Amino acid sequence: MDSPQFTARPSSDSRAERAPLGLDFDVIIAGCGPTGAMLAAELRLHDVRVLVLEKETEPVSFVRIVGLHMRSLELLAMRGLLDRVRAHGRQRPAGGFFAAINKPVPQGLDSTHPYLLGIPQPVLVDLLEDHAIQQGAQVRRGRAVTGFEQDDEGVTVELADGEQLRSRYLVGCDGGRSTVRKVLGVGFPGEPSRTETLMGEMEVGAPQEEVIAKTAELRETHHRFWLRPFGGGVYSVVVPAAGVSDRAKPPTLEDFRQQLHAVAGTDFGVHSPRWLSRFGDATRLAERYRVGRVLLAGDAAHIHPPVGGQGLNLGVQDAFNLGWKLAAQIRGWAPESLLDTYPAERRPVAEDVLDNTRAQMELLSTEPGPRAVRRLLTELMDFDEVNRHLIEKITAISVRYDFGEGPDLLGRRLRDIDLKQGRLYDLLQRGRGLLLDRTERLTVGAWSDRVDHLTDPTAALDVPCVLLRPDGHVAWIGDDQRDLDSHLARWFGRPAD
Ligand SMILES: Cc1cc2nc3c(=O)[nH]c(=O)nc-3n(C[C@H](O)[C@H](O)[C@H](O)COP(=O)(O)OP(=O)(O)OC[C@H]3O[C@@H](n4cnc5c(N)ncnc54)[C@H](O)[C@@H]3O)c2cc1C
Repeated sequence: MDSPQFTARPSSDSRAERAPLGLDFDVIIAGCGPTGAMLAAELRLHDVRVLVLEKETEPVSFVRIVGLHMRSLELLAMRGLLDRVRAHGRQRPAGGFFAAINKPVPQGLDSTHPYLLGIPQPVLVDLLEDHAIQQGAQVRRGRAVTGFEQDDEGVTVELADGEQLRSRYLVGCDGGRSTVRKVLGVGFPGEPSRTETLMGEMEVGAPQEEVIAKTAELRETHHRFWLRPFGGGVYSVVVPAAGVSDRAKPPTLEDFRQQLHAVAGTDFGVHSPRWLSRFGDATRLAERYRVGRVLLAGDAAHIHPPVGGQGLNLGVQDAFNLGWKLAAQIRGWAPESLLDTYPAERRPVAEDVLDNTRAQMELLSTEPGPRAVRRLLTELMDFDEVNRHLIEKITAISVRYDFGEGPDLLGRRLRDIDLKQGRLYDLLQRGRGLLLDRTERLTVGAWSDRVDHLTDPTAALDVPCVLLRPDGHVAWIGDDQRDLDSHLARWFGRPAD
């Protein structure tokens, strides 16, 4: 993906001024990556007092371009953030991400945002962090969580400088090496990294036509190799790290030269690196996402190779699932088991992503067996349904939570639709539940403090009425008031007195 312009961020000092530290919090979040920042903003929608502790004083300088897929774009639209984020990114076709098998995108994908948005990760994190702060979250940089203890009433969180803070809940959004997960003693089983890859941005001396032609030729067989121009002579370079033996040290330009030679017979005259990195394909899933008052989300709960560009999307979607449930718990209206639906719903989604990345890694292998499977799958993807299925999987628009027996739409997210009151996703921006009613005879009654009611007999729905959760998933379908009341109680607790 091309590199869009990079916006400068305020220094950590000016951020600290904007976010003075209080002492009592409902939720402390460890880590201000994309997952932590999104979760903080979601909690603030419900007036939850939230503090985000980030160990780094400054944001990462690493300008890695990440792809936001359809479901994440929909979530941003549901919170009024999409236009802001889109202004810093570049739109790409939604297809071609499954094991980098390039196929035309099928017509009529079921989303109003049927594209991928490429955006530098630091820019996205900056936008999400600013949004969380604007919503009233406190973010403190240079503050690492080193330990905690939980009791019946809350969690005492220990920081590296010895300070202790108390909150009702702690959420570990502190990445793949999560301190919170380790202190919690939650296992992280899976496979260690077997395949290492170098990735960086640098200038290339060879003429662009030559680089593009050679890259196209080599990518016929080497799918973990590319040189992609960003403009101004700068390229994104990806090459297998097989010959680079010392995994403990950061890679050097010399490592890139050596590996490019090994694969392409030339180093393309690479020089003047902007940044150099290395990543592996370790695949692990936390045994539990919740232990009492401590929860895990994002990379702290799951890691997998970056094929298909799903990790950040998965973390942001975890945060979206967890935010309103944790807020409900804190506001006192959560039904008994609501918080436990977070691991029950999100762990299987992560399991599926881990599995599809395992499959994709096999399909990127240069061994004869996997290459034959890749050729076969490439043929199968000419069938529209196969291609569509894989795109919907990678982009997470086909996620269906298990809410029990019911029509196919139950448990799925509802696409954005036009209503007489405006666009559905615009109407979900406050993070409340929504009864979308074509019958004009139902009511949300005493739940009106947490669930909105919209009547539109002309709404483009195949069913009489849907109850949407704050994350846009369909919690109930029907036209019977008593049945609706029992589902309002299931998801939104006891009605207000
Ligand atoms: C090469 C590559 C390309 C990728 N491309 C994509 C892509 O296109 N699309 C996609 O969806 N994903 C992509 N990913 C994955 C994505 O980068 C991660 O999944 C994502 O960053 C996870 O977000 P997170 O907030 O859960 O964790 P992180 O981004 O790791 O953030 C964790 C934060 O916690 C902080 N922290 C750590 N420990 C502590 C502590 N003890 N106390 C306080 N703070 C702490 C860290 O400093 C960090 O800021 C890619 C990954 C790689 C390696």
